[in-house]
Amino acid sequence: MKKHNFNAGPSILPEVVYEKTARAILDFNGTGLSILSISHRSKEFDEVMAQADSLLRELLDIPDNYKIIFIGGGASTHFFEVPANFLNTKAGYVNTGVWAKKAIKEAKRYGQTEVVASSEDRNFTYIPKGFDIPADLDYLHITTNNTIYGTEYTADLDSPVPVIADMSSDILSRPRDVSKYAMIYGGAQKNLAPAGVTFAIIREDMLDRIQRDLPTMVDYRTHVTNNSMFNTPPVFAIYALTETLNWLKSIGGVPEIYRRNQEKAALLYDEIDRNPLFVGTATEEDRSLMNICFVMAEGYEELAPEFLEFAKSQGMVGIKGHRLVGGFRASCYNALPKESVEALVACMQEFARKHGK
Ligand SMILES: *Cc1c(COP(=O)(O)O)cnc(C)c1O
Repeated sequence: MKKHNFNAGPSILPEVVYEKTARAILDFNGTGLSILSISHRSKEFDEVMAQADSLLRELLDIPDNYKIIFIGGGASTHFFEVPANFLNTKAGYVNTGVWAKKAIKEAKRYGQTEVVASSEDRNFTYIPKGFDIPADLDYLHITTNNTIYGTEYTADLDSPVPVIADMSSDILSRPRDVSKYAMIYGGAQKNLAPAGVTFAIIREDMLDRIQRDLPTMVDYRTHVTNNSMFNTPPVFAIYALTETLNWLKSIGGVPEIYRRNQEKAALLYDEIDRNPLFVGTATEEDRSLMNICFVMAEGYEELAPEFLEFAKSQGMVGIKGHRLVGGFRASCYNALPKESVEALVACMQEFARKHGK
Protein backbone atom coordinates (compact mmCIF):
# COMPACT_ATOMS: atom_id res chain seq x y z
CA MET A 1 0.00 0.00 0.00
CA LYS A 2 1.13 3.54 -0.71
CA LYS A 3 2.48 5.23 2.41
CA HIS A 4 1.68 8.87 3.14
CA ASN A 5 4.58 10.30 5.11
CA PHE A 6 3.40 12.95 7.59
CA ASN A 7 6.45 12.56 9.84
CA ALA A 8 7.48 15.73 11.72
CA GLY A 9 11.21 15.23 11.18
CA PRO A 10 13.23 13.73 9.69
CA SER A 11 10.56 14.07 7.09
CA ILE A 12 9.57 13.50 3.52
CA LEU A 13 11.87 14.76 0.76
CA PRO A 14 11.07 15.05 -2.94
CA GLU A 15 10.97 11.73 -4.83
CA VAL A 16 13.59 13.01 -7.27
CA VAL A 17 15.96 13.61 -4.35
CA TYR A 18 15.64 9.96 -3.29
CA GLU A 19 16.40 8.89 -6.85
CA LYS A 20 19.37 11.20 -7.32
CA THR A 21 20.92 10.44 -3.95
CA ALA A 22 20.46 6.70 -4.50
CA ARG A 23 22.31 7.00 -7.79
CA ALA A 24 25.01 9.20 -6.27
CA ILE A 25 25.65 6.60 -3.59
CA LEU A 26 26.59 4.16 -6.35
CA ASP A 27 28.33 6.62 -8.65
CA PHE A 28 28.52 10.32 -7.95
CA ASN A 29 28.34 12.34 -11.18
CA GLY A 30 30.34 9.82 -13.18
CA THR A 31 33.35 9.99 -10.86
CA GLY A 32 33.28 6.23 -10.27
CA LEU A 33 33.10 7.02 -6.54
CA SER A 34 30.23 7.01 -4.08
CA ILE A 35 29.06 10.36 -2.67
CA LEU A 36 29.56 8.63 0.70
CA SER A 37 33.27 8.30 0.01
CA ILE A 38 34.41 11.40 -1.84
CA SER A 39 36.75 13.94 -0.32
CA HIS A 40 35.15 17.09 1.01
CA ARG A 41 38.21 18.83 -0.47
CA SER A 42 37.51 17.51 -3.96
CA LYS A 43 36.59 19.76 -6.86
CA GLU A 44 33.32 17.84 -7.17
CA PHE A 45 32.27 18.58 -3.61
CA ASP A 46 33.39 22.21 -3.92
CA GLU A 47 30.83 22.47 -6.67
CA VAL A 48 28.10 20.95 -4.49
CA MET A 49 28.85 23.43 -1.72
CA ALA A 50 28.94 26.36 -4.13
CA GLN A 51 25.59 25.28 -5.57
CA ALA A 52 24.03 24.95 -2.13
CA ASP A 53 25.09 28.52 -1.40
CA SER A 54 23.96 30.03 -4.67
CA LEU A 55 20.63 28.17 -4.80
CA LEU A 56 19.68 29.06 -1.24
CA ARG A 57 20.67 32.68 -1.94
CA GLU A 58 18.55 32.75 -5.07
CA LEU A 59 15.50 30.94 -3.66
CA LEU A 60 15.33 33.01 -0.47
CA ASP A 61 16.50 36.22 -2.14
CA ILE A 62 19.31 36.61 0.40
CA PRO A 63 21.08 40.00 0.21
CA ASP A 64 24.83 40.11 -0.52
CA ASN A 65 25.76 41.17 3.01
CA TYR A 66 24.75 37.79 4.42
CA LYS A 67 26.95 34.69 4.78
CA ILE A 68 25.59 31.16 4.59
CA ILE A 69 27.10 28.20 6.41
CA PHE A 70 26.16 24.51 6.37
CA ILE A 71 27.58 22.75 9.41
CA GLY A 72 27.01 19.55 11.31
CA GLY A 73 24.86 19.26 14.41
CA GLY A 74 21.24 20.22 14.90
CA ALA A 75 19.19 23.30 15.51
CA SER A 76 19.90 22.39 19.14
CA THR A 77 23.59 23.13 18.52
CA HIS A 78 22.68 26.66 17.48
CA PHE A 79 20.64 27.02 20.69
CA PHE A 80 23.96 27.41 22.53
CA GLU A 81 26.07 28.74 19.67
CA VAL A 82 23.81 31.75 19.13
CA PRO A 83 24.19 33.09 22.68
CA ALA A 84 27.87 32.03 22.83
CA ASN A 85 28.52 34.24 19.83
CA PHE A 86 26.05 37.08 20.27
CA LEU A 87 24.85 37.35 23.87
CA ASN A 88 27.14 39.92 25.44
CA THR A 89 24.77 41.50 27.97
CA LYS A 90 21.14 40.62 27.52
CA ALA A 91 19.06 38.75 24.95
CA GLY A 92 15.31 38.63 24.46
CA TYR A 93 13.36 35.47 23.67
CA VAL A 94 9.78 34.87 22.63
CA ASN A 95 8.58 31.70 24.32
CA THR A 96 6.36 29.86 21.87
CA GLY A 97 6.95 26.33 23.13
CA VAL A 98 9.40 23.52 23.62
CA TRP A 99 12.03 24.58 21.09
CA ALA A 100 11.98 28.20 22.26
CA LYS A 101 12.33 27.02 25.86
CA LYS A 102 15.32 24.89 25.00
CA ALA A 103 16.94 27.88 23.30
CA ILE A 104 16.26 30.02 26.40
CA LYS A 105 17.79 27.40 28.69
CA GLU A 106 21.06 27.48 26.74
CA ALA A 107 21.12 31.28 26.52
CA LYS A 108 21.00 31.54 30.31
CA ARG A 109 24.49 30.02 30.46
CA TYR A 110 25.89 33.07 28.70
CA GLY A 111 24.12 36.09 30.15
CA GLN A 112 20.85 37.71 31.01
CA THR A 113 17.74 36.62 29.20
CA GLU A 114 14.38 38.30 29.09
CA VAL A 115 11.27 36.51 27.91
CA VAL A 116 9.63 39.43 26.12
CA ALA A 117 6.47 37.50 25.27
CA SER A 118 5.04 34.04 25.82
CA SER A 119 2.06 31.96 24.79
CA GLU A 120 2.49 29.47 27.62
CA ASP A 121 -0.75 30.65 29.26
CA ARG A 122 -2.73 28.81 26.58
CA ASN A 123 -0.40 25.86 26.01
CA PHE A 124 1.35 27.64 23.12
CA THR A 125 -1.69 27.58 20.85
CA TYR A 126 -1.02 31.08 19.51
CA ILE A 127 1.75 33.50 18.49
CA PRO A 128 2.12 36.46 20.88
CA LYS A 129 1.66 39.81 19.14
CA GLY A 130 2.00 43.50 19.84
CA PHE A 131 4.62 43.11 22.56
CA ASP A 132 7.31 45.68 23.28
CA ILE A 133 10.86 44.86 22.32
CA PRO A 134 13.38 46.56 24.64
CA ALA A 135 16.00 48.51 22.69
CA ASP A 136 18.89 47.30 24.87
CA LEU A 137 18.82 43.64 23.80
CA ASP A 138 21.76 42.12 21.94
CA TYR A 139 19.18 40.27 19.90
CA LEU A 140 15.62 38.97 19.94
CA HIS A 141 15.15 35.25 19.31
CA ILE A 142 11.99 33.82 17.76
CA THR A 143 10.85 30.43 16.45
CA THR A 144 8.98 31.13 13.22
CA ASN A 145 7.18 27.78 13.12
CA ASN A 146 6.34 25.83 16.24
CA THR A 147 6.53 22.27 15.02
CA ILE A 148 4.90 20.70 18.07
CA TYR A 149 1.90 23.05 18.43
CA GLY A 150 1.26 23.99 14.80
CA THR A 151 1.60 27.75 15.15
CA GLU A 152 3.53 29.97 12.78
CA TYR A 153 4.45 33.63 12.35
CA THR A 154 2.64 34.67 9.21
CA ALA A 155 4.48 38.01 9.04
CA ASP A 156 8.08 39.05 9.61
CA LEU A 157 8.62 41.02 12.82
CA ASP A 158 9.66 44.65 12.91
CA SER A 159 12.24 45.02 15.63
CA PRO A 160 14.61 47.72 16.91
CA VAL A 161 17.16 45.00 17.76
CA PRO A 162 18.61 42.19 15.59
CA VAL A 163 16.15 39.33 15.14
CA ILE A 164 17.53 35.78 15.20
CA ALA A 165 15.09 33.12 14.03
CA ASP A 166 14.94 29.36 14.33
CA MET A 167 13.34 28.43 10.99
CA SER A 168 13.96 24.69 11.24
CA SER A 169 10.47 23.68 10.26
CA ASP A 170 9.33 26.36 7.82
CA ILE A 171 12.44 27.38 5.92
CA LEU A 172 11.62 27.94 2.23
CA SER A 173 7.94 27.10 2.71
CA ARG A 174 6.67 30.66 2.38
CA PRO A 175 8.16 34.03 1.47
CA ARG A 176 10.28 35.65 4.20
CA ASP A 177 12.05 39.00 4.02
CA VAL A 178 15.57 37.94 4.95
CA SER A 179 16.65 41.55 5.40
CA LYS A 180 14.45 41.69 8.53
CA TYR A 181 16.62 39.05 10.22
CA ALA A 182 20.16 39.29 11.57
CA MET A 183 20.40 35.52 11.48
CA ILE A 184 18.26 32.60 10.36
CA TYR A 185 19.17 29.04 11.30
CA GLY A 186 17.76 25.57 11.59
CA GLY A 187 18.22 21.85 11.36
CA ALA A 188 17.83 20.84 7.72
CA GLN A 189 15.91 17.61 8.32
CA LYS A 190 12.42 19.07 7.90
CA ASN A 191 12.30 20.84 4.56
CA LEU A 192 15.76 20.46 3.08
CA ALA A 193 17.77 17.33 3.72
CA PRO A 194 18.25 14.19 5.76
CA ALA A 195 19.40 14.77 9.37
CA GLY A 196 22.97 15.78 10.16
CA VAL A 197 23.36 19.22 8.65
CA THR A 198 22.22 22.66 9.77
CA PHE A 199 22.00 25.92 7.88
CA ALA A 200 22.76 29.39 9.16
CA ILE A 201 22.32 32.66 7.29
CA ILE A 202 24.18 35.41 9.13
CA ARG A 203 24.32 39.13 8.42
CA GLU A 204 27.99 40.08 8.17
CA ASP A 205 27.94 42.87 10.74
CA MET A 206 26.84 40.36 13.40
CA LEU A 207 30.22 38.69 13.14
CA ASP A 208 31.91 41.91 14.31
CA ARG A 209 29.93 41.78 17.55
CA ILE A 210 31.48 38.56 18.82
CA GLN A 211 33.42 39.29 22.02
CA ARG A 212 33.83 35.95 23.78
CA ASP A 213 36.88 33.74 23.46
CA LEU A 214 35.13 30.74 21.95
CA PRO A 215 36.14 27.18 21.08
CA THR A 216 37.08 27.27 17.40
CA MET A 217 34.16 25.11 16.29
CA VAL A 218 31.63 27.23 18.21
CA ASP A 219 32.80 30.53 16.71
CA TYR A 220 30.64 31.27 13.65
CA ARG A 221 33.56 33.18 12.08
CA THR A 222 35.47 29.89 11.75
CA HIS A 223 32.82 28.42 9.46
CA VAL A 224 32.22 31.63 7.52
CA THR A 225 35.95 32.10 6.88
CA ASN A 226 36.45 28.47 5.89
CA ASN A 227 33.38 28.22 3.68
CA SER A 228 31.84 25.58 6.00
CA MET A 229 34.92 23.40 5.54
CA PHE A 230 37.00 24.04 8.63
CA ASN A 231 36.40 20.40 9.44
CA THR A 232 34.66 17.61 7.55
CA PRO A 233 31.12 18.73 6.80
CA PRO A 234 28.22 16.24 6.44
CA VAL A 235 28.96 15.65 2.76
CA PHE A 236 26.02 13.40 1.96
CA ALA A 237 23.41 15.54 3.73
CA ILE A 238 24.71 18.65 1.97
CA TYR A 239 24.51 16.89 -1.38
CA ALA A 240 20.87 15.90 -0.68
CA LEU A 241 20.16 19.47 0.42
CA THR A 242 21.50 20.79 -2.87
CA GLU A 243 19.28 18.42 -4.80
CA THR A 244 16.27 19.51 -2.75
CA LEU A 245 17.05 23.13 -3.62
CA ASN A 246 17.39 22.16 -7.30
CA TRP A 247 13.98 20.54 -7.12
CA LEU A 248 12.44 23.60 -5.47
CA LYS A 249 13.89 25.86 -8.14
CA SER A 250 12.64 23.56 -10.90
CA ILE A 251 9.03 23.75 -9.72
CA GLY A 252 9.03 27.54 -9.48
CA GLY A 253 10.74 28.38 -6.19
CA VAL A 254 9.17 29.85 -3.07
CA PRO A 255 6.14 31.49 -4.75
CA GLU A 256 5.04 28.13 -6.19
CA ILE A 257 5.74 26.07 -3.06
CA TYR A 258 3.90 28.68 -0.99
CA ARG A 259 0.90 28.32 -3.29
CA ARG A 260 1.03 24.53 -2.97
CA ASN A 261 1.50 24.68 0.81
CA GLN A 262 -1.48 27.00 1.20
CA GLU A 263 -3.57 24.70 -0.96
CA LYS A 264 -2.61 21.58 1.02
CA ALA A 265 -3.15 23.27 4.38
CA ALA A 266 -6.54 24.65 3.32
CA LEU A 267 -7.71 21.17 2.32
CA LEU A 268 -6.89 19.74 5.73
CA TYR A 269 -7.97 22.69 7.88
CA ASP A 270 -11.28 22.83 6.00
CA GLU A 271 -11.89 19.17 6.81
CA ILE A 272 -10.92 19.66 10.46
CA ASP A 273 -13.36 22.58 10.70
CA ARG A 274 -16.13 20.74 8.84
CA ASN A 275 -15.87 17.27 10.35
CA PRO A 276 -17.85 17.04 13.63
CA LEU A 277 -15.40 14.45 15.02
CA PHE A 278 -12.30 16.67 14.93
CA VAL A 279 -11.22 20.08 16.13
CA GLY A 280 -8.08 22.13 15.47
CA THR A 281 -5.86 23.16 18.39
CA ALA A 282 -4.04 26.27 17.13
CA THR A 283 -5.66 29.71 17.04
CA GLU A 284 -7.00 30.18 13.54
CA GLU A 285 -4.96 33.24 12.54
CA ASP A 286 -1.70 31.60 13.66
CA ARG A 287 -2.22 28.21 12.05
CA SER A 288 0.92 26.67 10.60
CA LEU A 289 1.11 25.64 6.96
CA MET A 290 3.64 22.98 7.91
CA ASN A 291 2.38 21.19 11.02
CA ILE A 292 -1.36 20.79 11.28
CA CYS A 293 -2.51 19.83 14.78
CA PHE A 294 -5.95 18.56 15.73
CA VAL A 295 -7.70 16.44 18.34
CA MET A 296 -10.98 14.55 18.65
CA ALA A 297 -13.87 16.92 19.27
CA GLU A 298 -15.51 17.09 22.68
CA GLY A 299 -17.48 13.93 23.33
CA TYR A 300 -15.45 11.86 20.89
CA GLU A 301 -12.15 11.78 22.80
CA GLU A 302 -12.23 8.03 23.31
CA LEU A 303 -12.19 7.47 19.53
CA ALA A 304 -8.59 8.72 19.22
CA PRO A 305 -6.84 5.31 19.32
CA GLU A 306 -9.38 3.89 16.87
CA PHE A 307 -8.78 6.76 14.44
CA LEU A 308 -5.02 6.29 14.66
CA GLU A 309 -5.42 2.59 13.88
CA PHE A 310 -7.80 3.30 11.01
CA ALA A 311 -5.50 5.98 9.55
CA LYS A 312 -2.58 3.59 9.79
CA SER A 313 -4.54 0.92 7.94
CA GLN A 314 -5.06 3.46 5.14
CA GLY A 315 -1.31 4.14 4.80
CA MET A 316 -1.00 7.25 6.98
CA VAL A 317 2.40 7.49 8.71
CA GLY A 318 3.43 9.82 11.51
CA ILE A 319 0.13 11.50 12.39
CA LYS A 320 0.25 10.90 16.13
CA GLY A 321 0.54 14.24 17.91
CA HIS A 322 3.56 15.14 20.02
CA ARG A 323 3.27 13.66 23.50
CA LEU A 324 3.01 17.15 25.03
CA VAL A 325 -0.05 18.04 22.96
CA GLY A 326 -1.70 14.71 22.24
CA GLY A 327 -4.14 14.19 19.41
CA PHE A 328 -2.86 14.30 15.87
CA ARG A 329 -0.30 16.20 13.87
CA ALA A 330 -0.03 16.03 10.12
CA SER A 331 3.24 17.57 9.00
CA CYS A 332 2.75 18.87 5.48
CA TYR A 333 6.27 19.88 4.51
CA ASN A 334 7.24 21.14 1.05
CA ALA A 335 7.78 17.69 -0.44
CA LEU A 336 4.49 16.19 0.76
CA PRO A 337 2.26 15.75 -2.30
CA LYS A 338 -1.28 17.09 -2.30
CA GLU A 339 -2.47 13.49 -2.88
CA SER A 340 -1.31 12.57 0.62
CA VAL A 341 -3.40 15.34 2.15
CA GLU A 342 -6.37 14.26 0.04
CA ALA A 343 -5.89 10.70 1.29
CA LEU A 344 -5.88 11.88 4.91
CA VAL A 345 -9.00 13.97 4.35
CA ALA A 346 -10.75 10.96 2.76
CA CYS A 347 -9.70 8.89 5.75
CA MET A 348 -11.22 11.43 8.20
CA GLN A 349 -14.45 11.50 6.19
CA GLU A 350 -14.66 7.73 6.07
CA PHE A 351 -14.04 7.55 9.81
CA ALA A 352 -16.84 10.03 10.46
CA ARG A 353 -19.23 7.99 8.26
CA LYS A 354 -18.34 4.85 10.18
CA HIS A 355 -19.51 6.70 13.26
CA GLY A 356 -22.73 7.92 11.70
CA LYS A 357 -21.55 11.50 11.01
C1 LIG B 1 13.08 19.95 15.02
C2 LIG B 1 13.28 21.31 15.58
C3 LIG B 1 14.39 21.63 16.37
C4 LIG B 1 15.41 20.59 16.80
O1 LIG B 1 16.27 20.34 15.78
P1 LIG B 1 17.52 19.35 15.97
O2 LIG B 1 18.15 19.50 14.62
O3 LIG B 1 17.00 18.00 16.26
O4 LIG B 1 18.37 19.87 17.06
C5 LIG B 1 14.53 22.93 16.79
N1 LIG B 1 13.63 23.88 16.47
C6 LIG B 1 12.55 23.60 15.72
C7 LIG B 1 11.59 24.69 15.38
C8 LIG B 1 12.34 22.31 15.25
O5 LIG B 1 11.26 22.03 14.51
